[in-house]
Amino acid sequence: MVIVGAGFGGLNAARGLARQPVDVTVVDRDNYHGFWPLLYQVATAALGPDDIAHPVRGLFPGAPNVHVRLGTVVGVDLDRHLVAIAGEEPVSYDYLVLAAGSVTSDFGVPGVAEHAFPLKTLQDAVRLRNHVLTTFERADASPELVEEGALTIVLAGGGPTGVELAGAFSELIGVNLARDFPRLDVTRARVILVEALDHLLSGFSPVSRRRALDTLEAKGVEVRLASPIAALTAEGVTLGDGSVLRTRTVVWTAGVRANPLGAQLGLPVGKGGTVDVSADLSVPGFPEVFVIGDLATVTDRKGGPLPQVAQVAIQGGRHVARSIPRRQAGKPARPFHYVDKGTMATVGRHAAIAELPLGIKLTGGLGWFSWLGVHLVFLIGFRNRAVVLVNWAWNYLTWDRASRVILDDGSRTPTGQTRD
Ligand SMILES: Cc1cc2nc3c(=O)[nH]c(=O)nc-3n(C[C@H](O)[C@H](O)[C@H](O)COP(=O)(O)OP(=O)(O)OC[C@H]3O[C@@H](n4cnc5c(N)ncnc54)[C@H](O)[C@@H]3O)c2cc1C
Repeated sequence: MVIVGAGFGGLNAARGLARQPVDVTVVDRDNYHGFWPLLYQVATAALGPDDIAHPVRGLFPGAPNVHVRLGTVVGVDLDRHLVAIAGEEPVSYDYLVLAAGSVTSDFGVPGVAEHAFPLKTLQDAVRLRNHVLTTFERADASPELVEEGALTIVLAGGGPTGVELAGAFSELIGVNLARDFPRLDVTRARVILVEALDHLLSGFSPVSRRRALDTLEAKGVEVRLASPIAALTAEGVTLGDGSVLRTRTVVWTAGVRANPLGAQLGLPVGKGGTVDVSADLSVPGFPEVFVIGDLATVTDRKGGPLPQVAQVAIQGGRHVARSIPRRQAGKPARPFHYVDKGTMATVGRHAAIAELPLGIKLTGGLGWFSWLGVHLVFLIGFRNRAVVLVNWAWNYLTWDRASRVILDDGSRTPTGQTRD
């Protein structure tokens, strides 16, 4: 069996099959599993990149039937049961699980690919952190850059990631960067959250949306609702009404689409390039192939689309791990039923919203502590949990977002010389 992707879906499929009589090969383009819900904390200097990542090879102790391969999958031959890996021999399979996730979607807005910072990978988060810290350094040396929007951060998209980034950047700037740059007028820094719809956090109730909006505004975040972005340039953002926000930093959190690997299969795909699957998450016409997580069009019991969130991928992976031994035993396939465990977003220190089953809503400090607890539980690896807990405790007591480290601003050659 081959599993493509060691993210939330692939990891749970492989863990469910560990120590079972199945030969499993997990292929991922990175050698780590990334915990994306905390990616924004890396981008805003609260955590380091390896606090939220775990080497895939260390995830299957005592499971000799699970093999790990570093490689980028570039295609699948569904008829010949072969997975093509860039620069390597193809790998054959009896069963295939595709769990390659999603990529950033620019929705066709001009300039996004050239000028926006995506936030989908660890590299993206480190690049964004480097950029923001470097921009403040440059503005400190040349204060006239402030006029050009050097201290303005625009977050495109009012979903959970945009909201979380807005709260975190406002705290990073208002506390840490204000201390770090005493000669710079950091009060001129702006954090602007731009959303095309007339509300934030579409998946949440109107009460939670309102709370998130009020909390962000109380932190000094400028929220522009009903403001679709028309274009991005090197100088800034042009909104639908023609107004321009001058900035050097636009973070694009406005949307995702399925990994292009799905479309390459030549199978029917839904909105956003997700692969249509049967009730048991296998591909119609190819019962030995399963597609899970962000890459699949997964529906609830009423046929409505499920969101591209971690729990859908986790539960999908576990379902496939149960389905394959059933198949081998000649038993009929069972449909996938998603159990909604609720949804959460943090808006900053002591402020989060959590909407749980049975209509339970937690906000403010209670929501925040429940958010911390849930993320600690789901974070992979004891060392990561311990490090994150210590970082959070340190940050809570001192307000210090300690990872304010510029790892590479691109200005130095490998031998330490300054590039032209
Ligand atoms: C910034 C951010 C914040 C988020 N916050 C939340 C949140 O708070 N709560 C929540 O529920 N969800 C959140 N999500 C969404 C959640 O992370 C995804 O829904 C979930 O990761 C989907 O799981 P997956 O297994 O489908 O994909 P992923 O977890 O993304 O895993 C895909 C894996 O496939 C690998 N891969 C991709 N292409 C290839 C290839 N060609 N060859 C080999 N390997 C490949 C990748 O390296 C990756 O390891 C967030 C996502 C992001 C980006």
